[in-house]
Amino acid sequence: MEILYKSTRGNNETVTASKAILQGLSADGGLFVPTQIPSLDMDMETLAKMTYQEVAYEVMSRFLTDFTKEELQDCIEKAYDEKFDTRDIAPIVKADGTYYLELFHGATIAFKDMALSILPHLMTTAARKNQVKNDIVILTATSGDTGKAALAGFADVPGTKIIVFYPKDGVSPIQEKQMVTQKGSNTYVVALEGNFDDAQTGVKQMFNDAELAEELLQAGCQFSSANSINIGRLVPQVVYYVYAYASLVKNKEIEPQETVNVVVPTGNFGNILAAYYAKQMGVPIDKLICASNENKVLYDFFTTGTYDRNREFILTSSPSMDILISSNLERLIYHLTGDDSEQNRAFMDALSKDGKYTITDAMKTKLADFYGNYAGEEETAQTIRRIYETAGYIIDTHTAVAASVYQKYKRDMRDDKKTLLASTASPFKFTRSVMNAIDHSYDEMTDFELVDELAKIARVKVPQAIEDIRSAPVLHDTVVEKDEMKGIVRKILGI
Ligand SMILES: *Cc1c(COP(=O)(O)O)cnc(C)c1O
Repeated sequence: MEILYKSTRGNNETVTASKAILQGLSADGGLFVPTQIPSLDMDMETLAKMTYQEVAYEVMSRFLTDFTKEELQDCIEKAYDEKFDTRDIAPIVKADGTYYLELFHGATIAFKDMALSILPHLMTTAARKNQVKNDIVILTATSGDTGKAALAGFADVPGTKIIVFYPKDGVSPIQEKQMVTQKGSNTYVVALEGNFDDAQTGVKQMFNDAELAEELLQAGCQFSSANSINIGRLVPQVVYYVYAYASLVKNKEIEPQETVNVVVPTGNFGNILAAYYAKQMGVPIDKLICASNENKVLYDFFTTGTYDRNREFILTSSPSMDILISSNLERLIYHLTGDDSEQNRAFMDALSKDGKYTITDAMKTKLADFYGNYAGEEETAQTIRRIYETAGYIIDTHTAVAASVYQKYKRDMRDDKKTLLASTASPFKFTRSVMNAIDHSYDEMTDFELVDELAKIARVKVPQAIEDIRSAPVLHDTVVEKDEMKGIVRKILGI
C-alpha cells in the first residue's frame, strides 16, 4: 500500500515520502503527515526474533513506500552500525520497577542519534531518486542534542552542508563542547544570543523566505531540515517502540498482546508522537505519558485544552526540554481535528498571533490516550539520587523528569501496568547536574573530573563520545544576535 504525505496546513496535495524528506517543511508552513498510518500487520513473536536493523526495515518500509528495498536496507545498514556501542542499538534496563529504554548508545550519546544517524542517508537517497542536483543545506535549530547528532550524521556527507544554531546560554557545557569541536569541512556551528524558541523561529522564517530560497537556487543549493519537523526524523523513531515491545515479549517480561504504558520526557513532542504512531500501527500501548520540566506548557495543554506559550521561558537542568513551542504537537492537533487542515491552520495562526489556542471539546475527548504531568528541578534531582541509592542506576536529568512524572502517574492513576520509559540521554552528557543531584560536594570538581567520578560510582566506562572531546580544539566560535541569523547563513553559503 502506497503511503503519501500531505501538509497539516495544505489543501489535498500529496507528495511522496522521499519528497517530504527532501523538503523538510511544507511551503505553506505546515508539517508533512502520512495520509494514513500504516498497520504493522505482523505478529510480535516474529518481530521478537529480529535484529534492530530488521525491525527498522519492517517499520520504515511501511511508511517510506517509494524507497526500494535495497535503498532502505542500505540506509539502515549505514546508520545502525559500530557507531552504536551495543549490538542491541536500543537496550532495555530494568531498574526501580520500570523498563528503561536506553536510546543513548549512538555517536553523540542522546536519543537524537536514533534518527539522525539515518536521516543523512535517507536524504541523499531521496535527492538521487528525485534527480536533485542542488547541494542540500541542512538548517537546524537545536536545544543541545539535535545539533551535535545532526552534525555527526552529516559531517563530510557529499552534496550536503549543515548549519546549526544553538542558544548560547541554553545548553550544558558538555553539549556545547561537543558542538564547537565538530570536524568536517561542511559543518557550521553558530551560537545565538537567545533561547531555543528564538533559534527555532529564526530557522522556520528562513525556510519560508521565498527571496532567500531563490538566492539559494541561484547558488545551486536548497534547504532541508534535520529537526523533528522532518518526517525522516519521525519514522525512524517509531522503530524503537516496536523493537522495545518485541524485546519485552522476547525476554518473557510481557505476554504477546499485553498492553504497556510509555513515558517520554518531552520537548518538541517528536519522540512521544513517534510512540503515538507506534500505537496507531498496532503496538499494544495503553497510556502515553508526556513528561515536561518546569516549562510545562504541554502539561497545561493536556489538563485544560488550551495551549498557551505566553509565559516565562525557564532554563532548567534538562535543557533539551526547555521549549515553549512544541513543533510536533501540530501533527497531533491535525490528527485530532480528523485531518482537517483548515481547522488546524486556524489554531496555528492563533498560536503565532496570540501565542495560544484552545481545542474543541470533541478534540479533547480524543486526548484520552495521553496523560501529562511535570517535574520541578528539586524533584528531578531527588529522583536521580533515589534511583542511584536504591538501584545503583544513574539516569540523566531528562530521563529523571520522566521518572518523576511516572511516580506521579502511578500515584494519581493507581495503574501499575508494565511501563517503558524512554531514557533519552547518557548521564555523561549532563554530568554536572547529575553529580550535583547525587551529592552537592561534587560541585567543586571540573567537568572532566566529574566525568571520571561518574564512571567510578556508576561502574561504567566513560563513553567514547566524551573521550573524544576531552582535548579536542574549538573549531567554531561564531556568536550572533537574533536579527543576524539570515546574514550569517548568507555569509556561510557565500550568497
Ligand atoms: C530532544 C530531547 C528530548 C525531547 O525530545 P522531543 O522529541 O523534542 O520531545 C528529551 N531528552 C533529550 C535528552 C533530548 O535530547
